[in-house]
Amino acid sequence: MTPEALEKAGGAMHAFIAEAFPLCRSITGDGVRRTLAMIAGRIPLDVHEVPSGTQVFDWTVPKEWNIRDAWIKDPSGRKVVDFQESNLHILNYSVPVHARMQLAELQSHLFTLPFKPELIPYRTSYYKEAWGFCLSHRQLEALPEGEYEVCVDSTLADGSLTYGECLLPGETEREVLLSTHVCHPSLANDNLSGIAVMTWLAREISARPRRRYSYRFLFIPGTIGSITWLARNEARASRIAHGLVAANLGDPGAFHYKRSRRGIAEIDRVVTAVLKAAGEPLGVEEFVPFGYDERQYCSPGFDLPVGSLTRTPWGRYPEYHTSADDLAFVRPDALAGSLRTYLNVVKVLEGNRRYLNLNPKCEPQLGRRGLYRTIGGDESGRARELALLWVLNQSDGYYSLLDIAERARLSFAAIREAADALLEAGLLREVEG
Ligand code: ZN
Repeated sequence: MTPEALEKAGGAMHAFIAEAFPLCRSITGDGVRRTLAMIAGRIPLDVHEVPSGTQVFDWTVPKEWNIRDAWIKDPSGRKVVDFQESNLHILNYSVPVHARMQLAELQSHLFTLPFKPELIPYRTSYYKEAWGFCLSHRQLEALPEGEYEVCVDSTLADGSLTYGECLLPGETEREVLLSTHVCHPSLANDNLSGIAVMTWLAREISARPRRRYSYRFLFIPGTIGSITWLARNEARASRIAHGLVAANLGDPGAFHYKRSRRGIAEIDRVVTAVLKAAGEPLGVEEFVPFGYDERQYCSPGFDLPVGSLTRTPWGRYPEYHTSADDLAFVRPDALAGSLRTYLNVVKVLEGNRRYLNLNPKCEPQLGRRGLYRTIGGDESGRARELALLWVLNQSDGYYSLLDIAERARLSFAAIREAADALLEAGLLREVEG
């Protein structure tokens, strides 16, 4: 993408986030459906509905949750907490209630952040039936004694879990998995940024006439969504050759890459090479069995080569899971930079091939083929020749271009360019696999 096209995409992604921001998403329900409908307006998306009660490995698809309204009225009858103002005010998955109670009783249902007294926290109770409200600590401190009226107009009933899937077929059935969670309500970085960047990435890849890999995008509720997908697609999972879990891609922080469980999978090396080449600070971290859906993709029964590429990782920015993760916190330029980084990862994955040197007995004469400088002393010419010699020397059908780039300590782009020149000169043949 040109810098102008990227800048435009950054603005468009931010506008998409602003449009999706007010929807009350959760792990099930209409908030997710409406978000998926927005994505489906931009890329080809299959929307799946999996009935409540479906067994998925050790888990069960939960009841579907929907909410229309929720509020707390103080003793004077004034609404002091109102879901219509922010959907973070409701404990996500709250069961319905309409009751009157004293402040002391109400307080056991109220959640605040005493150390960030101005912010509303984001809290959930998916697997234990409960109701509650989240509010700023300032607001809590201002509540007078007396009798309160609370109302949660929600339903928790048999329905389904909804997720979206976009498959872009390539020349081979080997797949690149790109997975992002869609279950958070009005939080911009976690994870409307991931949803936006993955939607634009799918759009960009689908516009390309040729691609080696098939690309599978999953827009799923966290944890239960990836477990559900894996349970329904167990036989297909072995096609996944590379994968990334995308989240937190709109904050101004540096990129962080969390390696797959395997640690040395091709995707781990590709992302490292991309971040290095971009001159980005190298925040590469080892696999740990918590975080996002890589926990499921990297469970030992699957052990897929799936890492996670984010900007500031979850939990490490003060706005995380609070009302400060808002539309001002995510920036168009950061979104555009994230899209560019993912596109660079795709470029290296697509370009990382193996070749056979067709003139392996001593060096071929490069000068005769116009590949060798005729006048010495030019630094860039020397670097180019070095790349040519490395590709010729290592292309025995075993080493990939990424192997060569790593060994030569040259950029993947330089090695890829050398391979293209050698292909053009008829000195290389691609080896499958
Ligand atoms: Zn989160």
